[in-house]
Amino acid sequence: MRKNDLENVNGEEVTVTRWNRLLEAGELTEPRSKSIALTALGSSVSTPVGGLEAEVAVVRSFAELDRGNFTGKIVVINQEFNGYDHDYMYRSNGATEASKKGAVAALVRALTPFSMYGLYTGQQTYRNNVTKIPAASITKEDAQMMQRMQDRGERIVMRLQISTESLDNSTSRNAVGEVVGLTEPNKVVVVSAHTDSWDVGLGAMDDGGGVFMSVYSLVVLKALGLRPRRTLRTILFTGEEQCYCGVNDYNEAHLDELDDFVFVMESDEGTWNPLGLSYTAGTRGGCVLQEILKLLAPLNATKAVRVDNVGSDISLWTKSLLPGASLLNENDRWYWFQHNEADTMDVMDRDAMDKATAVWTSVAYVIADLRLEFPKERD
Ligand SMILES: [Zn+2]
Repeated sequence: MRKNDLENVNGEEVTVTRWNRLLEAGELTEPRSKSIALTALGSSVSTPVGGLEAEVAVVRSFAELDRGNFTGKIVVINQEFNGYDHDYMYRSNGATEASKKGAVAALVRALTPFSMYGLYTGQQTYRNNVTKIPAASITKEDAQMMQRMQDRGERIVMRLQISTESLDNSTSRNAVGEVVGLTEPNKVVVVSAHTDSWDVGLGAMDDGGGVFMSVYSLVVLKALGLRPRRTLRTILFTGEEQCYCGVNDYNEAHLDELDDFVFVMESDEGTWNPLGLSYTAGTRGGCVLQEILKLLAPLNATKAVRVDNVGSDISLWTKSLLPGASLLNENDRWYWFQHNEADTMDVMDRDAMDKATAVWTSVAYVIADLRLEFPKERD
């Protein structure tokens, strides 16, 4: 950001949690021998030293888990992919729910609609007063295979070795840069993304592409010599994946400024061919966005889809306080790559990223330069 002459570039310290995967191995020993690929979910504890061997029980849902007794078993959760919001609870709470039923480990089927033996990670959370058991993802293929074995009445046994470590909290940073507004510099339009990623893959898509857009939207405006009435502020949050630590610390440190935030944008849903915006705003705000998006007819990116609580980091603000938007794009393949080894630069498409950045830049600029302030009220 400094190299590209953005203004007021700085880093703001954030306390983040630290967790490492050290070793992961899975092996089916009954009814036949087969290695089972797995990836520990974030914050998972280790198996006992030397690993564990236990009978496997497969369930398709929490309802099925609730009906059985799984004492001493490795529970495989073979949920059908039914969208992130549905599957997220299995990743996040699978180990806790399985532990409540006596399980010794939980293996959650990778969250994806498409698999070529792909794994998946993501943060999972232990609840108080529930024994912490190891939590990992396995492939859709292996989950389905064990489902078929169970449906045939076969006894399934797995050997599991997971070793992880949780370290003391550490200091990371949010990175901030601006194009300061011409006439109302205290009023702020935020464009944001997150710089952290999971350890697997490179985080190119989640969320390097978003970072690119949110930095280059300001770089483009500088290059064009365009300075809007209000300030445009790029915030690159850290620690989104494990704890929303970056946005929470930012919010605490900037509470007194939030009244002057006009609109918040976040790109964390892909940078493929842009279609428009998903947004959270009132009816008047929605009308303004629809008008702005008409400017993007040459890119065919004029769609405006209203949602309850747009964004990941920025949902802290959009759920109650502020209007905001995320890029609507052709991201059907997002869950093919999210949080796995395949999230690399190969996923990124130069042309699509440029178009996405054009949409992002235009929307941010116009909102920051509106003669009347963007309507904040909800209805
Ligand atoms: Zn993300």
